[in-house]
Amino acid sequence: MQALVHIRRCASYEEASVADAVASAIAGAEAAGTFPEVAGRTVLLKPNMLSAAEPERSVSTHPEVLRAAIREFRKRGAEVAVGESPAVHGSVFAARKCGLLAVAEAEGVRWADFSATATVENPGGRLVKRFEIASEAASADLVVSLPKLKTHQLMYYTGAMKNLFGTISGLQKAAFHFRFPERRDFGAMLTDLCLALKPSFSLMDAVVAMEGHGPGNGESRQVGLILASADILALDWAAASIIGYDPADVPNLADALSRGVWMSDPSELTIDGPPMDELRIHDFKRIKEVGDNGFGRMILPPSLYNLVRNATVPRPFFRDRRCLRCGECVAICPAKALSFSPARRAASPAGLDKTKAAKRVEVDYDACIRCYCCDEVCPAKAIDLRRFF
Ligand code: SF4
Ligand code: SF4
Repeated sequence: MQALVHIRRCASYEEASVADAVASAIAGAEAAGTFPEVAGRTVLLKPNMLSAAEPERSVSTHPEVLRAAIREFRKRGAEVAVGESPAVHGSVFAARKCGLLAVAEAEGVRWADFSATATVENPGGRLVKRFEIASEAASADLVVSLPKLKTHQLMYYTGAMKNLFGTISGLQKAAFHFRFPERRDFGAMLTDLCLALKPSFSLMDAVVAMEGHGPGNGESRQVGLILASADILALDWAAASIIGYDPADVPNLADALSRGVWMSDPSELTIDGPPMDELRIHDFKRIKEVGDNGFGRMILPPSLYNLVRNATVPRPFFRDRRCLRCGECVAICPAKALSFSPARRAASPAGLDKTKAAKRVEVDYDACIRCYCCDEVCPAKAIDLRRFF
């Protein structure tokens, strides 16, 4: 069976260019008979909005991609809402800064802040049989993922499937990191969440991606593409390939492939658009994969396994001079491994008042589970991820 991904070139975020590329990609899905029936149905568009960051930082789905998606779904008779809940910052505050709220308002669609939640049973889940997710996502007839193509410290790559983790409300996300600290398990949890949400369609903003230190602190990289598919895994497989990953190395994609729910073999991937060989970016700065797939946990006693893992998996180092003392990292840390402590010596970064200069972020590395949530939310690029050795 074919797993179709529609890929269109899109050189910039100029409104007409994005509109053309999105319309063409969706038309491709319609022609192939894979676009869902949306007339008269409620459709939740779920952009990626990691934190309150301007569109130029490439942290969030670009507002013009959201605008084009809203128009295409409404044109077909859908009742559209847009929703997202970042781990830090209020949903509406972040959406305003990212430019997404302005587009939703201009297009006359409702913004869902995901503060209300509902329980969704997930009997087919491998690790999670029940999720507490945004009620807007639970009650919508159709959920559509609108991801941004980025690198990701924990999963290496983030796209359409990982984007749906945002339907877990605010800081509740941190609890999942604590429950599933291993990459492999966290990836399986993400697959379970996709099973629960049953996304109908995905539309990816890969016009300007994020490379390097993603998903929050990398650099913008021109890719010039819009991707669309009814098969969420196929879309992610194609996008991860374009930026140079072997998608089988991306924990959540490898897990999703094994479920047989979406594309069940990479040979099924079929591109409607330019040949993949033309699209691959060989020098895209990716996250280096590390071998912490949890296998060691099965063969080593827990104390030895933790010692080995803590020594070999990159850990966060805090750059005191860059730190703004905003406390976002302390608030999100699921392992409670971070705290503010008085500085041992005068660390007084310019511009900080005396109260802020008198404290610094301290890390309990024995407690740290290497989830990198702190790095994701740091607004100051004050955290380096390095191995101890
Ligand atoms: S210190 Fe950072 S990497 Fe370690 S557990 Fe806390 S948030 Fe995760
Ligand atoms: S390390 Fe980053 S997130 Fe943490 S307090 Fe400093 S600036 Fe804020």
